[in-house]
Amino acid sequence: MAQYAKPIPVVTDEMRPFFEAAREHRLVVQQCAKCRALRFPAREVCSNCLSFESDWVEVSGRGEVFSFGVMHQVYHPGFAGQVPYATVVVKLEEGVKMVSNLVGVAPSDIRIGMRVRVVFEDITTDVTLPKFAALQPGAT
Ligand code: ZN
Repeated sequence: MAQYAKPIPVVTDEMRPFFEAAREHRLVVQQCAKCRALRFPAREVCSNCLSFESDWVEVSGRGEVFSFGVMHQVYHPGFAGQVPYATVVVKLEEGVKMVSNLVGVAPSDIRIGMRVRVVFEDITTDVTLPKFAALQPGAT
């Protein structure tokens, strides 16, 4: 695997189940064990019912572009060959939102509401990043 030049997420104890699932190319989010509300990123307390009990559950990986921004400045040398690139907020079908990147779509072609599905990028032997790709019309 080539050296990865961009910053690599620090895997905290709280987020470890997310990264372990991503390594297996599964997308999971935290779920309150009491009221079943989903949340992401991981938090200790449920903002809906204040319970401290939680589990991790697999989600569909399908959703839509909720918001996005296009980066034109190089804020880190690892992105020098990447600008302009888009950072997207994806709202999953289950309702939770994730910040990620859209792959295979030029920033000028990104639209709010565009249907997307998760794809996985193995950036190191330990870390896999969930990213998103456009869902073709009619695909499931
Ligand atoms: Zn709750």
